[in-house]
Amino acid sequence: MSFNDCSKALEYLNSYEERDGLSADQLMDSKTRGGLTYNDFLILPGKIDFPSSVVSLQTKISKKITLNTPFVSSPMDTVTESEMAIKMALLGGIGIIHHNCSGEQQAAMVKKVKKYENGFINSPVVVSPDASVGDIKAMRQRLGFCGFPVTEGGTSLSKLVGIVTSRDIQFIEDNSLLISEVMTKELVSAKVGVTLAEGNEILKATKKGKLPIVDKDGNLVSLLSRTDLMKNQSYPLASKSATTKQLLCGAAIGTIPADKQRLQLLVGAGLDVVVVDSSQGNSVFQIEMIKWIKESFPELQIIAGNVVTREQAASLIQAGADGLRIGMGSGSICITQEVMACGRPQGTAVYNVTQFANKFGVPCMADGGIGNIGHIAKALALGASCIMMGGMLAGTTESPGEYFFQDGKRLKTYRGMGSIDAMQQTDKKGNAATSRYFSESDKVLVAQGVSGAVVDKGSIEKFVPYLYNGLQHSCQDIGVKSLEHLRQQVDNSTVRFEFRTASAQLEGGINNLHSYEKRLHD
Ligand code: IMP
Repeated sequence: MSFNDCSKALEYLNSYEERDGLSADQLMDSKTRGGLTYNDFLILPGKIDFPSSVVSLQTKISKKITLNTPFVSSPMDTVTESEMAIKMALLGGIGIIHHNCSGEQQAAMVKKVKKYENGFINSPVVVSPDASVGDIKAMRQRLGFCGFPVTEGGTSLSKLVGIVTSRDIQFIEDNSLLISEVMTKELVSAKVGVTLAEGNEILKATKKGKLPIVDKDGNLVSLLSRTDLMKNQSYPLASKSATTKQLLCGAAIGTIPADKQRLQLLVGAGLDVVVVDSSQGNSVFQIEMIKWIKESFPELQIIAGNVVTREQAASLIQAGADGLRIGMGSGSICITQEVMACGRPQGTAVYNVTQFANKFGVPCMADGGIGNIGHIAKALALGASCIMMGGMLAGTTESPGEYFFQDGKRLKTYRGMGSIDAMQQTDKKGNAATSRYFSESDKVLVAQGVSGAVVDKGSIEKFVPYLYNGLQHSCQDIGVKSLEHLRQQVDNSTVRFEFRTASAQLEGGINNLHSYEKRLHD
């Protein structure tokens, strides 16, 4: 063959026995290379012959649950409570509610997710008829809006008696006047069960600013707001149950006997998937718990873990796990590897476990160590079906906790569930709440995590779509149209990888700039 004939370049390429780069198997040959993590390798680009917008990110979180995105929020008390779980589900992922609280509190959070209806304000700010005009003016100042239902008891689920808006108090100078004297008593309200579309039609027709929703006895249940009418987004990717149309919700439990009662409450609240939460999942306690759950709640999907080896995975798969959670020591707040000497670099852990579990049709979640979209793409390329995130979602509007200022930055607390702070947290009855990192018999707490702070990231309403679009672009560069396609192409060695030396990693980062601003999305 003549090398002057460029039209034969592709034909010539095909004469090579192997494609450029390494197969996943060659990359992950830990006998020669040791354990790898996400930064230690890259995926080689493939061929682009489709727009990124057609890339499907549909995936499974467990044998029976399919999601439209692979994003899962971690069961940590600074990451996932109902607000996060609702938004994650609306945006196509799922939230796993933490168990560092009583079973009743956790079940109430699950219920809130299951009862959520897009557009309805389920916990509206309510005032009592005895509040004063001055109180309302102060609330307007503090909350930035004015339009409060008035109920007999001054709380939701109490009889609606009026509504007070800016117009009712606009020209009143006597701040001591009672709300009962100035509120609007001729109310337009709607009954529970009204759809969002019907409610919005009533708002338009009546030209009202707020539409209280009441139950059959006239108690306030929720509220629709005219200002939200225009903002109401539709969520085409939302994770919903096919039968009830309710948002999907997950929650974590431990492996102590009391967790059985906890799970009963959670199932009563409508739980779809339970995560058996343990830093080292291959234990008789977890195996026994999985078997008990399968017998007691055969419909409930179980994600077991955490695991980092085939041997751990096999025990849990045999016990009945519907999904696995992979990671030990890779979390951003984690000191497990340092303290316990146990763990595994996350790339190697994900590859080895998924290679085994995927043969049995058990989807796996890569948990911990995700710091950017590239890490997400790599975890999925190594065989994970879903990605669990803690630090990436901490510090968002939807994560629990209040913002505070430090060194001129707006921050929120983010802590490991094995940090001393989290382990010392007790529920209202004084019981230690979570048992992921210690046993009840422990006399001395041994920390496996730290407590810190992360900067304000804004709402996940913007952040998760950024992850979604970024991942679609990544798949386009790799040349795969779906996550399933990615898996196939990795398995048949069409998708190739390259090991990254320490200097290659430096090269891949930003370098030689005097200064820069790293903005990830608008
Ligand atoms: P991140 O996404 O890298 O921040 O890691 C979050 C993951 O770290 C969680 O989903 C847990 O698996 C793990 N994790 C949470 N708390 C601790 C801890 O205190 N020590 C070790 N690992 C933790």
